Amino acid sequence: MRIFDPHIHMTSRTTDDYERMAAAGVKALVEPSFWLGQPRTSVGSFTDYFDGLIGWEPFRAAQFGIAHHCTIALNPKEANDPRCREVLDILPRYLAKDRVVAVGEIGYDSMTPAEDEVFAAQLALAVEHELPALVHTPHRDKARGTTRTLDVVKESGIDPGLVVVDHLNELTVRPVADAGCWTGFSIYPDTKMSPDRMVVILREHGLDRVLINSAADWGRSDPLLTLRTGEAMLAAGFTDDDVDRVLWRNPVEFYGQSGRLRLDAAGTEPTFEGNSILRGGA
Ligand SMILES: [Zn+2]
Repeated sequence: MRIFDPHIHMTSRTTDDYERMAAAGVKALVEPSFWLGQPRTSVGSFTDYFDGLIGWEPFRAAQFGIAHHCTIALNPKEANDPRCREVLDILPRYLAKDRVVAVGEIGYDSMTPAEDEVFAAQLALAVEHELPALVHTPHRDKARGTTRTLDVVKESGIDPGLVVVDHLNELTVRPVADAGCWTGFSIYPDTKMSPDRMVVILREHGLDRVLINSAADWGRSDPLLTLRTGEAMLAAGFTDDDVDRVLWRNPVEFYGQSGRLRLDAAGTEPTFEGNSILRGGA
């Protein structure tokens, strides 16, 4: 099984995770920029983080033969902090970088006026830079958050085929698919979407424009839930080709729209400008 995890926060994961993921068949991933838990108080914290997503993290991933890409944005939660608003000004410089394959995660956390404004501004950046957009839906009040999300996406004028609306469930998949957007599902170890629930959704809605991710981060999560979903699909009678489509070809097609996917990077000699620092150390 070859796996492309289209949404995973490796900054928050250990090297053991990279090792287990590579052994499980993960050959490529996209790491969206997000909220790190601890509030950031200045734009400098974001530039260092974004630099890590395009520099250090691809270097770590390449040591395990995994092609690493990222998405860059001001996340919905910190959109509410006026100290972080300046981040919008530095985004264009990152959106021009090679391994940046979308604007994201953007969208709603608590559906505040500040989030409205920052969400719309970042969809406009996606249109301007001709990049896909990764849209997070709120974990509370998901149905209303998803409806409002689709309204804002429509108003922005972005091609819905360039938008993935993520963290969906049985209740929110239909309106997103009807809007022509890609449907994203995060598989979690406990309360939220599980491999078995995912299989039922795939049976009902088909495999078209579906992205399945582990969304693993600093919370309780599991980077191998993409693999577990593939196994659950096979156990339920889906074919190897079906699994390959959902876990590999679909994410390649979606993020390939950026024109920046470099899947051959897996297994090649990693390059990172900090190499000399590492090698020069004691
Ligand atoms: Zn995320």
